[in-house]
Amino acid sequence: MRIKENLIAVKNTFINPDCLLIAVSKTKPISDLQEAYEAGIRDFGENKVQEMVDKHAQLPTDIRWHMIGHLQRNKVKYIAPFVHLIHGVDSLRLLIEIDKQAQKSERVIPCLLQLHIAKEESKFGFSEEELEELLNSEELKQLNNIKITGLMGMATFTENQELIRSEFAGLKSLFDQLKNRNLPPNVELKEISMGMSGDYLIAQEEGSTMVRIGTAIFGERNYN
Ligand SMILES: *Cc1c(COP(=O)(O)O)cnc(C)c1O
Repeated sequence: MRIKENLIAVKNTFINPDCLLIAVSKTKPISDLQEAYEAGIRDFGENKVQEMVDKHAQLPTDIRWHMIGHLQRNKVKYIAPFVHLIHGVDSLRLLIEIDKQAQKSERVIPCLLQLHIAKEESKFGFSEEELEELLNSEELKQLNNIKITGLMGMATFTENQELIRSEFAGLKSLFDQLKNRNLPPNVELKEISMGMSGDYLIAQEEGSTMVRIGTAIFGERNYN
């Protein structure tokens, strides 16, 4: 019952009720996902390919699986048949591989481009210049089995709320700028994936359309 109560509590705080709640279930056992499923959750986020594949095989087929972690090219083939949305795409080479595997599965796979918005060195993602280069590249236009449906970003891990807010606001402003531009046919910007347990309210205030929430629903993770 704990998970259901947490879900209701989290949902009750939403500033934008239309914002999609993705339950980040990485490291959590199947029984926890089942509990969230029974409480009505259909969108689950995982960051490891093998773990997502295993859970996908054991749970109902109407679940939408979101790959939220850093994805290695040699592992795309395992999730291509079923993944709903890949959030953390950070290179053209990865997009080319997703396109290739999507073609084999006779699918078009929706992807979000990850932008590096944090002050921290460690986070993945495109810089604005790299994004510009990607959107102007001839190679991107030839990828018929991917669809870029939005942007994703992770704020700095900090107590400084104003820094987090400015990073999210920056991503939203870039999103708005790009939306008004002439983009390749396989790019249609609708989604901004930003916000986690600690910062999803700020993210919603700054225009997030999907939040990825783990700890606030399932409790702390144990990585041992
Ligand atoms: C783990 C993870 C989350 C969820 O983090 P919580 O703080 O537990 O809500 C969200 N996004 C990404 C990319 C993650 O890896």
